[in-house]
Amino acid sequence: MKRKVNLSEITAKEPLKVKTEIQPSVMKLPEEEISKASPFKMEVEIQKKPVGYQIKGHVSGEVELTCSRCMKKFSHRVEQDFDYKLMPTSEITGGEIKGSDLDIKFSDETVLDLAEVAEEQVLLNLPVKPLCSEECEEVHYREWEEEEGKEIDKRWEKLRKLQNKLKKE
Ligand SMILES: [Zn+2]
Repeated sequence: MKRKVNLSEITAKEPLKVKTEIQPSVMKLPEEEISKASPFKMEVEIQKKPVGYQIKGHVSGEVELTCSRCMKKFSHRVEQDFDYKLMPTSEITGGEIKGSDLDIKFSDETVLDLAEVAEEQVLLNLPVKPLCSEECEEVHYREWEEEEGKEIDKRWEKLRKLQNKLKKE
């Protein structure tokens, strides 16, 4: 399975299309977040531009995460589209990048490691607060609302005390 792409071999005429599978063992995935991962299917299209390359594609697979509320392990499906520009670092101009910064990556490497691309996209796909199920998600939000409620009560309490104090004076 293809893992590395030599960018200098790509001509402006025709984009390079790669369909491959990346083993999680060659990716640097954070073990504390991802306890298990399937091989990742990947489709990439690389197009040479006047400056740099346009890289787009899709990564899919499955990871095992730990629920942030009940600590249960659960399976999370990864389906991630990507579309970004790869530019030489010489294009970095004092913070003035046209378009959204997220859509541009800078690198002078002539070899694109697809394992690194997959790794980045899988990480982007992970939920900030992993939750195992919809029920757990509901409980999570209820708890969150209760916390918020308590905070508001505390603030009212302070205000009441202040009013009482003013009345006495
Ligand atoms: Zn849970």
